[in-house]
Amino acid sequence: MTEHINLFENVNRQFDEAADILGMAQEVREVLKTPYREVAVALPVRMDDGSLKVFHGYRVQHNGVRGPQKGGIRFHPEVDLDDVRALASLMTWKTAVVNIPFGGAKGGVQCDPSKMSLHELENLTRRYTAKISMVLGPTRDIPAPDVNTNAQTMAWVMDEYGRKAGHAPACVTGKPIELGGSQGREAATGKGVALITREAAGVMGLKLEGARVVLQGFGNVGSYTGKFLDEMGAKIVAVADHAGGVRNPKGLDVKALAAHVKANKGTVAGFPGGEAFPREEVFAQDCDILIPAALGGVLTKETAETVKAKLIVEGANAPTTTVADHIFKERGIVVIPDILANAGGVTVSYFEWVQNLQQFFWEEAEVFEKEEKIMVQAFHDVHDKVVKHGCTYRTAAFVLALERVYKANVMRGW
Ligand code: NAD
Repeated sequence: MTEHINLFENVNRQFDEAADILGMAQEVREVLKTPYREVAVALPVRMDDGSLKVFHGYRVQHNGVRGPQKGGIRFHPEVDLDDVRALASLMTWKTAVVNIPFGGAKGGVQCDPSKMSLHELENLTRRYTAKISMVLGPTRDIPAPDVNTNAQTMAWVMDEYGRKAGHAPACVTGKPIELGGSQGREAATGKGVALITREAAGVMGLKLEGARVVLQGFGNVGSYTGKFLDEMGAKIVAVADHAGGVRNPKGLDVKALAAHVKANKGTVAGFPGGEAFPREEVFAQDCDILIPAALGGVLTKETAETVKAKLIVEGANAPTTTVADHIFKERGIVVIPDILANAGGVTVSYFEWVQNLQQFFWEEAEVFEKEEKIMVQAFHDVHDKVVKHGCTYRTAAFVLALERVYKANVMRGW
């Protein structure tokens, strides 16, 4: 029987494990789990062939007690409201784990960008922004890129939002540098994943130099994670994406792989510097460290049994189901959760917002130095909870986040 996966239920189970440790009352759990606001919009878009197509979009604002709502916008054919709820709540816990002054939100539009022209994507983005603009703004809710959206998408969001509100670069992050984006934002999530991998390997006594790493996904997060881990001395031995996989036990040439992806419609498939393998077998590849950096719900009961790694670092959001999590716990495989591992992106988004509000910009070295400080601190804050409660890194990260959000909520009043 295949496992039923509802990402929102999955996140709330993780929440409950931490809430149990904290002895949190049922009524408080209900408040903290329930999204503050959910917006669903229909988006009619005139397509290039003259037809009119209606797309469905969502923006879920989960919790804003620690600051403005913050979270990405995803364009994907399988986006649904429950997924967006789950991803919004993960943002609440993520911003709390790294202790930056934001809440958690997420947006999604059900569409297949690979089958749309740039012109159609621009029209869709503008329609979506216009229809949710009443709940956006630099002090309310600040979107960012996620799967299949990028700096160009954010430029359209800023422009469309600015039609009514005036020039407000702090209304969105992940913008092009020319429009007020931050140096280092593009690489920030992957940089953070690599830093957290280094810290986790350190406390486990796993030598990063020469460690064998497998990546699922070689988009924004996967490619930069690969780049920085390669620079730290690890060996990227296999990578798979939507179209195929490539492996080389001696280590893939990450720079050449990135160039290949750029030149080949965004896929690693067909890379000549390694042997091809079916993408479904990515989790069973021999390695020390496994980094899922594509979609959610991929480490399931079935795939978890095949994992060979000692350490899993979640570059993607919600890649591990609850059942898989328990399998990893029983098998002694350490999992560093998404809300810690991939928080480098939102951390540098925070820096971008700060720079936009000040209209004063920092150099890349300063951005990376500040990101490293926050990520390393967050890892050790979570590690301390692991030691204190004898729990997994996931539960420890939730304990830390729940304490921070709960305290802020109590001080503000329910
Ligand atoms: P992206 O669109 O740049 O890349 C996605 C990658 O996943 C691509 O390599 C694609 O080929 C691969 N992929 C898609 N479907 C697949 C499938 N069925 N099997 C295998 N691979 C598949 O997206 P991204 O920004 O790199 O985001 C990846 C993950 O990281 C998502 O879960 C996202 O929510 C999360 N994340 C992103 C950021 C960020 O700053 N971009 C921050 C935090 C978390």
